[in-house]
Amino acid sequence: MTRGTIIIDQERCKGCGLCPIMCPQGVIALNEKILNSHGYHPAALVDPEGACTGCAVCALICPDVCITVYREAKVGNKNDQRTA
Ligand code: SF4
Ligand code: SF4
Repeated sequence: MTRGTIIIDQERCKGCGLCPIMCPQGVIALNEKILNSHGYHPAALVDPEGACTGCAVCALICPDVCITVYREAKVGNKNDQRTA
């Protein structure tokens, strides 16, 4: 399975909760322990098993374009690259 990871811009996140609901791997959660400067609990990647596939569903669903997805490149495949 392709592996991926994401970077969430926590300052821009408004804690709407869409990405935790939509992630098929269940590896995003709102971080209830912190507030960003706008007063929201931002989303965070919680993926100790490395289950993120880089599917980019989270990035596509985020209304504030807070998520950047990275997908593991396969040797010799020029089409694997940053997707969102
Ligand atoms: S890229 Fe896919 S698997 Fe990874 S965190 Fe986003 S929705 Fe979940
Ligand atoms: S969908 Fe975007 S704004 Fe909503 S919780 Fe996820 S990162 Fe934050």
